[in-house]
Amino acid sequence: MTIHTEKKIGRNDPCWCGSGQKYKNCHFDFDRRIDAFRDEGVEVPTRDMIKTPEQIEEIRKSGLVNIAVLDYVAENIKAGMTTEKIDQLVESKTRELGGIPAPLDFEGFPKSVCTSVNDQVCHGIPTETVTLKDGDIINVDVSTILNGYFSDSSRMFCIGEIDDEKQRLVDCVYKAIELGLEKVRPWRCLGDMGQAVNDHAKECGFSVVEEVGGHGVGLEFHEDPWVSYVSKKGEEMLMVPGMVFTVEPMINAGTSEIFVDSSNDWTIYTADGKPSAQAEVQVVITEDGYDILAR
Ligand code: MN
Repeated sequence: MTIHTEKKIGRNDPCWCGSGQKYKNCHFDFDRRIDAFRDEGVEVPTRDMIKTPEQIEEIRKSGLVNIAVLDYVAENIKAGMTTEKIDQLVESKTRELGGIPAPLDFEGFPKSVCTSVNDQVCHGIPTETVTLKDGDIINVDVSTILNGYFSDSSRMFCIGEIDDEKQRLVDCVYKAIELGLEKVRPWRCLGDMGQAVNDHAKECGFSVVEEVGGHGVGLEFHEDPWVSYVSKKGEEMLMVPGMVFTVEPMINAGTSEIFVDSSNDWTIYTADGKPSAQAEVQVVITEDGYDILAR
């Protein structure tokens, strides 16, 4: 039995996507294709997860600001710099380019960017008391609001000479994302991507954080679906053209177990104190694959 959770539209009614075209000439076949997957028991996206071409272009512009801000961090980050200084760089560059840093005041987050050093998995809070030193690895996670549209991506930065384990970890996270992206295709499941990421992390001898994942993003900072990297091929939500989400696995050198800093309720650390690495790309599903909106 087909369970139609969306409102029924007549073939000659205007399409739900807002294109102004008749439904039968627009998303009618698309919806029937989704229905077929739903009938097979596949989790399918709701209409509000599918962006219009106009929305995607606005999210893309936001992503260009996000990329430029990360490029600016890349040009300036160095040993001796506090994470507070990185926050200032992100704040000033984002505003200069007409954007607003999305993390600032998001659910009470106190700063404009997340800076996660070594055993900090994610949501590190910039501070005067953390100074980057030779051998550190740091994830800088930048998110931008431009004209009301959200972008989100992050990169790892290696400070000076890092040890072999950290280098392998950073290389692993970028390779895992590359392999995951090969599985990002319309009419396939998010678990195809998740398993590719996880398989590579395991091959490297590392582990993937289970409790924190990626997310839909574009009209809001965090939207559905939630994106796991501890998922299996053929499982999780169907990817369809117009969906925008992040691929952002957190890979730990040791155990996948983590804990939240009780002093701020934000920063997540590895349970064993070993390093963690993460990078994040924001993608939109296209008719035959994906486009990167921010990286
Ligand atoms: Mn994100």
